Amino acid sequence: MELSHILDNLNDSQRQAVSAPPSNLLVLAGAGSGKTRVLVHRIAWLVQHEGYHPNSILSVTFTNKAAAEMKGRIEELMHTSTAGMWVGTFHSIANRLLRRHWKEAGIAQDFRIIDSDDQLRLIKRVYAELEVDEGKWPYKQAQWFINGQKDEGRRAGHIQAPELDLYLRNMQRIYLAYEQACERGGILDFAELLLRAHELWLNNPDLLHHYQQRFRHILVDEFQDTNTIQYAWLRVLAGDAVPMTIVGDDDQSIYGWRGAKIENIQKFKKDFKDPSMIKLEQNYRSTKRILDSANQLIAHNPDRLGKNLWTEGELGDPISLYAAYNEHDEARFIVDRIEEWASQGNSRIDAAILYRSNAQSRVLEEALVRASVPYRIYGGHRFYDRLEIKNALAYLRLLSNRDDDAAMDRVINTPTRGIGGKTLDILRQHANEQNISLWAAAKDLLSSNSLTGRARTTLGGFFDLIQQLSADTAGCDLYEQVDHVIQSSGLLEHHAKEKGEAGQARVENLKELVNAAKQFETGTMPLSALQDQDPDLELSPLSQFLDQAALDAGDLQADESHDYVRLMTLHSAKGLEFPLVFLSGMEEGLFPSRMSNEEPDRLHEERRLCYVGITRAMQKLYMSYAEVRRLYGSETYNKVSRFIRELPQEHLEELRPKASLSIPVSSKPSQLSAKNNVEIPDTGITLGQNVRHKLFGDGVVTNYEGKGDQARVQINFENEGSKWLVVGYAKLEAI
Ligand code: ATP
Ligand code: MG
Repeated sequence: MELSHILDNLNDSQRQAVSAPPSNLLVLAGAGSGKTRVLVHRIAWLVQHEGYHPNSILSVTFTNKAAAEMKGRIEELMHTSTAGMWVGTFHSIANRLLRRHWKEAGIAQDFRIIDSDDQLRLIKRVYAELEVDEGKWPYKQAQWFINGQKDEGRRAGHIQAPELDLYLRNMQRIYLAYEQACERGGILDFAELLLRAHELWLNNPDLLHHYQQRFRHILVDEFQDTNTIQYAWLRVLAGDAVPMTIVGDDDQSIYGWRGAKIENIQKFKKDFKDPSMIKLEQNYRSTKRILDSANQLIAHNPDRLGKNLWTEGELGDPISLYAAYNEHDEARFIVDRIEEWASQGNSRIDAAILYRSNAQSRVLEEALVRASVPYRIYGGHRFYDRLEIKNALAYLRLLSNRDDDAAMDRVINTPTRGIGGKTLDILRQHANEQNISLWAAAKDLLSSNSLTGRARTTLGGFFDLIQQLSADTAGCDLYEQVDHVIQSSGLLEHHAKEKGEAGQARVENLKELVNAAKQFETGTMPLSALQDQDPDLELSPLSQFLDQAALDAGDLQADESHDYVRLMTLHSAKGLEFPLVFLSGMEEGLFPSRMSNEEPDRLHEERRLCYVGITRAMQKLYMSYAEVRRLYGSETYNKVSRFIRELPQEHLEELRPKASLSIPVSSKPSQLSAKNNVEIPDTGITLGQNVRHKLFGDGVVTNYEGKGDQARVQINFENEGSKWLVVGYAKLEAI
């Protein structure tokens, strides 16, 4: 058979990996070196050269999208259909097995998979049943605990809780009751899929044997991000019977916070029989400057397995670094660059804006909307579509209009306040019969004394809460209104109790909403929705704000354009590549995140995340940071991210708006002050003047642009190096 097409367009090491004998193989390689490409070609090789049936190959990818792409690429290469092939994520493959073998797995035939919101709802029911105090043991804590245990392969019965360990004893009790509730309801959560699939092997040796015969080769992409139960599932399935090809990059392990074990790569070498190892060191994705920068960054991490990535590609453009005044300036800069890129005949779809934290997307989205640039959020929701934001907006809508039924429906029991399903039924029925709003119906029922004790108290509580919020915020500024509502409604506290990054992100988003309201009101943010507002309509700031949020959320969603920019978190960018990449928010405290400050391991994971970000770029990379940033509701002056300082300076190019006057920053401050007395218009500051900044200490003014409070001055600080600051914010003191 003519097989050259499978080995064409591969380098020697890739070819060696693709055509290696079908025994255990580890491909350890850096970003963009063709790992995923090798997996695809190896599958084609196994089928066409080794004669394996396509259905005898099991290939595990990280996302469903990656699985679809892999199938597409295999079909292209082999000119055959991949229908029936086992290519998917761990979860989708586990589901497929359990659907077939529900009996052996001891689960209901028509089991239902629940997502994390449903899971939380179920946990709440368990709390009620056990009479556990939510105040003491937040629901989210139990959810986090249960999923964590499952990821480690532990059932409630396996946990050894010492008598005195109240926390563990309680969690175990909840876990146990939760397990029973799932069993009764025929329900499987995500972690359970994996756990059951693992137990399916352990409890059914015949079935395991059957699959060990059936699968002749297992391939796994992004192996560095497998967790304990995934590894165990593979280990049992493969046994000594099925050889595996795994590809991974220890430098791209970014899910440690969710239980991924980077050590699984090393474990593989020990646990599996005679694995051979191939390193791929040639990168095909990025320019030399981008690659060298990524290499130098990641070299700051200890304990790496070590590899040396190089490219034959061209040197390419320098990495452009933009120091924005603030987050709006940063967003504007990025949008301008994208439009410039598009005007040169490039596609917007080739551009991606990456950020560390979900909340950063709001300002970027606004700038894109304003410039009418189509965009999509990849692997996440738009800011105004996010659950917590919708909840907060629903409270605000209800304050603005009590008859907004959709809003009332949304928040009447969010956060839970014990209004039972029956009470809600009565309420809805009454509203229907009388043809009045839910709010009016509630008022009716409460005043007519037709509700029983508990229903009356809980519904009355909600009714009073809304009235109280309304009274409290009358006459307040819009942002104060928003702030008060997210606090007093209990939403903020509700999300703050959630453990892990998800809860944290929701809290941050809520605070960001306060921020949005503030900027809305002060008019620092020109708004798309308001540009064609009827000047004769006297809408309250709140109504205007709500309109804008609704338009932002709905309008562009329906955008049919196929040429859109993609926005995503660094985590969701894994495995992808784009000709043009923006890494925004390169500031200490944001990236690396504040939480990683104290823990070296977390800092190393942040650095890997930055490595992932840089290596997504093929041709051109922009990095940006804001000297002042409002995020999560407060204003911060952050230092530029240490990750920027760790890059080779010769590949960096600092972008500045054209300055009116330039003085070399390398000159000694004292010499400068003697030489210059150019006054910066309307600021009372002169070039060469010695100044003191609260945070950065003493320095000398070396350059400026603009005038008055809006002017930016460049200051060469004794200890902090050179910085551009906005006069209005910087509060400089002459010394
Ligand atoms: P990541 O670590 O980001 O997942 P990867 O190692 O999986 O990256 P691929 O996505 O497989 O890398 O490949 C990166 C890019 O290089 C792709 O565009 C791919 O088509 C290209 N590429 C890989 N190998 C070769 C080759 N031998 N010749 C030409 N292009 C190649
Ligand atoms: Mg890949």
